[in-house]
Order: sequence, then structure tokens, then C-alpha cells
Amino acid sequence: MSTEIGTIVTTLTEAQTALMHRMYKHLHANPELSMQEHQTAAYIAQQLDALGIENFICADTGVVGIQRNGNGPIVGYRADSDGLPIAENTGADYASATRGTLSDGTDVPVMHGCGHDTHVTAALTAAARLAEQTSSWRGTIVWIFQPGEETGAGARAMLNDGLWDKAPRPEVLLGQHVFPFAAGSVGLTSGPAMAMADSIKVTLEGKQSHGSQPQDSIDPIVLGAHTITRLQTLVSRELDPQSSAVVTCGSFHAGLKENIIPDRAEFTLNVRTFTEEVRSQMLGGIERIVNAEAMASNAPKPEIERFNSFPKLHNSPEHTEILRMVLIAELGENKVHELPPAMGSEDFGALGDEISVPYVYWFFGGFVPRKSAPPVNHSPHFLPDYEPALATAVRSALAALGHFLR
Ligand code: ZN
Ligand code: ZN
Repeated sequence: MSTEIGTIVTTLTEAQTALMHRMYKHLHANPELSMQEHQTAAYIAQQLDALGIENFICADTGVVGIQRNGNGPIVGYRADSDGLPIAENTGADYASATRGTLSDGTDVPVMHGCGHDTHVTAALTAAARLAEQTSSWRGTIVWIFQPGEETGAGARAMLNDGLWDKAPRPEVLLGQHVFPFAAGSVGLTSGPAMAMADSIKVTLEGKQSHGSQPQDSIDPIVLGAHTITRLQTLVSRELDPQSSAVVTCGSFHAGLKENIIPDRAEFTLNVRTFTEEVRSQMLGGIERIVNAEAMASNAPKPEIERFNSFPKLHNSPEHTEILRMVLIAELGENKVHELPPAMGSEDFGALGDEISVPYVYWFFGGFVPRKSAPPVNHSPHFLPDYEPALATAVRSALAALGHFLR
């Protein structure tokens, strides 16, 4: 019995490239907010149908495609699909002019400001290429088109909707993200790659009074100021200097007028950590300081609410090493870089952690080198140079999948 199978061709013909560019521009011009990706999901499902790839909707706006090609390994590949509430200011003729409605009812402009349109386009293109080259691979690819990455809700929603009961469980899970460095190159991080993130809202209750009669008040602004100052010591005085964490206060609201002491103050915190140990140290410390400062002010116990949390992203060192070799072979030694762990967050890791499947998430460059640094993700000016960016993403995806599907 022969086990010889061919090598996957990772480059595209002119016609395939043209099709990919049209797909990208369509997606770029039609972004949708997190967990509202209805048209995007319908478009993805339609493309998978056209390729003859079995697919189903998961978590309302997620799509799972199952591309089977005989017996062999099962590999998962994830592409996220949501846009952001940003007014696009790129000047592109395919720029988005669409608007959406946030869950609180606010009407907002919507933009693919994180480049998830490149992720979906690259995944669909890779699926099409693999459908044409069935003699060069064997096994099953589980394509996960995940909604709601930006709010950290999408991966969890797909898991809660039975993703791994409905789809075959892969032996390895892959994914990649466009980033503002040179197209043609990729960046990999072994082990802890992206931080966990926790968002916290604190409501401090005080006692309202005339500004001239502070003795009758419990001033929530003074309380809030002390609390936030004290929170700075969690990282600077309590954390082992060899560990890392971020505790940011990103909003503070209190009062309406200079001569009224208000009855409450609200602030929000964002916490980034890499280990469960440091995470619980920071979250526990926040609770302790918030409560203790309230006590010091003789104020009622504050309300502490958690919202938006992102899991850790811990790349399998073994599979990262394999991928490093595969990508070096595909792109060249000087095109594969080692990246330090990022304080940014991603919910990709949850998809693999849920079923203890190893995973690798890497970054691909989205820009032609230029004099000034390219705009960063989430900027209204973020516009990848799609031709080399997509080519890099497709080649990387095909090389990676090809390796694991032999
Ligand atoms: Zn983003
Ligand atoms: Zn993103």
C-alpha cells in the first residue's frame, strides 16, 4: 500500500487571486458587530456550500465547515469574523460605510478595524485550494468561523452551543491574525502568547451633600481617587518583579457640578495577566483594596462587577516548533520571527482548552514596508495591503494544514 501523497501547492493562479480579492473587498465593505454577523455567516456558508463542504451554523452567527477527505488526521482551523464600532477613515474605495447597533441601543459606524476580513478570506481561499488538491492531503479539516472575538463572547458561545459535540474533535487547532508588520513574514510565540483579560466595573456609594458642607457627605470622588491610587501598588508593590500584569483604570465618572458632592462614583478596570496565579492575585487584590478604601471612608460596601473576560492563549511548544519549521520551509528563514508574549488578548485559546487540544496561534504581516509605521489594529486607518497580506495568510494556512494532514 502506498502512503505517498503529493505536496500542496500554496500559491494561487491569477483567477484564484482575483476571486480572493473580490471576496476580501466584499467582506471589508460589509462588516458586522460582534455576535451580529448574520450576513457574514450567510456569506461564509454560501461559499462553503459552493465548495461542497458540509457546514452548519453554531452560536447563531458562527459557521463550522467540515471538509472531509478520507481517513486521516483531524485538524481544526479558526478564523474570526467580527468588525468593530469604528468609523473607517482609510480612503479605500471598498471602505465600509455601514452602521450597526450596540447591545445598549447605540447606533455606531462599523469597520473591519482588526482585519478579521482577511482571516475569513484566507480561510475560505485555503479551503477552496484544498478542495482542488485532494490527492495532496488526507483527513478532515474543521473550519471554525467564529463570531464575537472582539467582545470575548464568541468562542464561549460556540462551545456552549455544542461545537465539540457537533464537530469532530481535532488533534491540533490552528489560527492566525493579521498584524502591522511586513507582509510575507510571520511571528510565532511558544508557550504563553497572549494575556488573559478581565474587565471590572466598580460602583462606589457615597453620601450626597452641598459642596460647602463636606461634613455631611461621604465623598465618593475622594474615595475613588484614593482607591485608584492604591490600586497602582498591586503591580508596583505586591507583584513579583519577575512576573507581569497590567491594571488599568480606563474610565471614571462622578458628579455633575463643582458645588455638589455626588452620591456615587463609577470606574472600570482592565486587568491583563499570563498565569492563573497572578490573575487571582490581582483580582483578589482589587477586591481587597476597593473594600478597604470604602471602609476607610466610612462608605457602604462597593459593588464590584466582572464583565468581558478573555482566557489565556498558551501555544503548545511542541506544535509551535513544528510550525516554525513548516513556515520557514514555506516563507524562508528570515521571514519567520519570534515574538514576545503580547499583553493583548484573544479568545481563540478557549476553543482548544475546552477539550484539551493543543493549539498554535500566530501572526502574519499585513503591510508593505513603508517609511512610517503602519497603523495598528483597531485604528480607523487600519487597512492591510491586502494583496501580499492575503497571499501570506493563505500560504501559511496551506503549509500548516498540509503538514498536519499527511
Ligand atoms: Zn481586535
Ligand atoms: Zn482581531
